[in-house]
Amino acid sequence: MNILVVNCGSSSIKYQFIEAESRTTMAKGLVDRIGMSGAVLTNTRYDSDTIKLTGDILDHGMAIEYVLAVLLSKNHGVIKDKSEIHAVGHRVVHGAEDFAGSVLITEQVLQSLRDNIELAPLHNPHNIRGIVACRQHLPTIPQVGVFDTAFHQSMEPRAFLYGIPYIFYQKYKIRRYGFHGTSHFFVSSRMAEVLDTPIESLRIVTCHLGNGCSMAAVKHGQSMDTSMGFTPLEGLLMGTRSGDLDPQLILYIMGKEGLTLSEATTLLNKHSGLIGISGESSDMREIENAMEKGNPKARIAFDIFCYRVRKYIGGYAAAMGGVDAVVFTGGIGENSVRVREAVSTGLEFMGIDFDPALNAEGPKERIITRPDSRVTVGVIPTNEELVIALDTMNIVNGGLPPTMKNMVKNRALEAL
Ligand code: ADP
Repeated sequence: MNILVVNCGSSSIKYQFIEAESRTTMAKGLVDRIGMSGAVLTNTRYDSDTIKLTGDILDHGMAIEYVLAVLLSKNHGVIKDKSEIHAVGHRVVHGAEDFAGSVLITEQVLQSLRDNIELAPLHNPHNIRGIVACRQHLPTIPQVGVFDTAFHQSMEPRAFLYGIPYIFYQKYKIRRYGFHGTSHFFVSSRMAEVLDTPIESLRIVTCHLGNGCSMAAVKHGQSMDTSMGFTPLEGLLMGTRSGDLDPQLILYIMGKEGLTLSEATTLLNKHSGLIGISGESSDMREIENAMEKGNPKARIAFDIFCYRVRKYIGGYAAAMGGVDAVVFTGGIGENSVRVREAVSTGLEFMGIDFDPALNAEGPKERIITRPDSRVTVGVIPTNEELVIALDTMNIVNGGLPPTMKNMVKNRALEAL
């Protein structure tokens, strides 16, 4: 079954055209600068044939039209007719408590997404735009929504409720939701395959370290806890986001500096994290380069970053009553030898026998602990698009999507 996987941002659309049974990506690309001058579509076919088109792409509808035109193109395309697209799978950032799994998109589902816009004002409106555009251009083709939050709906109230008056959970749905769910699902499932052990008997800590960073405690295939919270701001230090902090300090800074709500939001989301501390860059490669040149602020930004990941590994091991495996993924997790080393050395006390040589080089997917290590640490490249394609195929076929195999009933507390 051929699935078009679509991930819509505010001014960009990432897409992949995947033959789901064979897990083959036939084409992938990016439409960038939608609604701005000089929009660009870059498409790469399975045989590395790459084309770049520039022009005025005014909105998401037009962008989808361009994507379809490229997929159908005689010289650069992969299909001859639209009917060869059998379904569309959409990445949707926020499913709130309404969606504990992937879902066929109906009018009612679209309405629920619109109702949840307040919870993800930066993401859901664009995701909805992408869905509407695909329904317009592919009206007879089923569309499926796969949510970043769904995998974490298995968390228990003790993990998802905050220590604020309960009324705010009821009134405004304030709770931990967690994000990067498809990635945490994918890499934990893959780690179980690598270990040749059923995921139902494993306790895995997953570290998704990219521009946005989050970790999850995946116990027996279910997310038990995760570091991002009500929004993707909580938890680890990130490229431009602060992660965990004392909530009182932001009120203090707002008072001192006379900041508005929106200025404070920008401060925490765009000017904090690696860039805020180092003053250099939000990009880990550049932080490492600056560190090498002796930049002390880059060094401390790097140290804080790694220290937090380490603390969460310990915390999640305690939460799960032990740990069998740790997985690194995302741009930093997959590529930064230094970050993995700084996080993983000196953890012999908890059964991690880290091997610097295996960490330094090897295939993209590999184990970086010694063979006798009680806890296995691995690097596993994430593949969120494949998760979306497989879930979409299974929903369209009326089966149980892979992400929902270990799903428990949504643990929302509305009844209290
Ligand atoms: P996103 O969260 O936007 O998907 P990615 O998962 O691509 O981002 O991760 C981007 C991060 O990965 C950046 O901080 C980048 O510097 C980092 N990164 C990529 N390659 C390397 C590398 N070789 N060494 C260190 N960091 C890297």
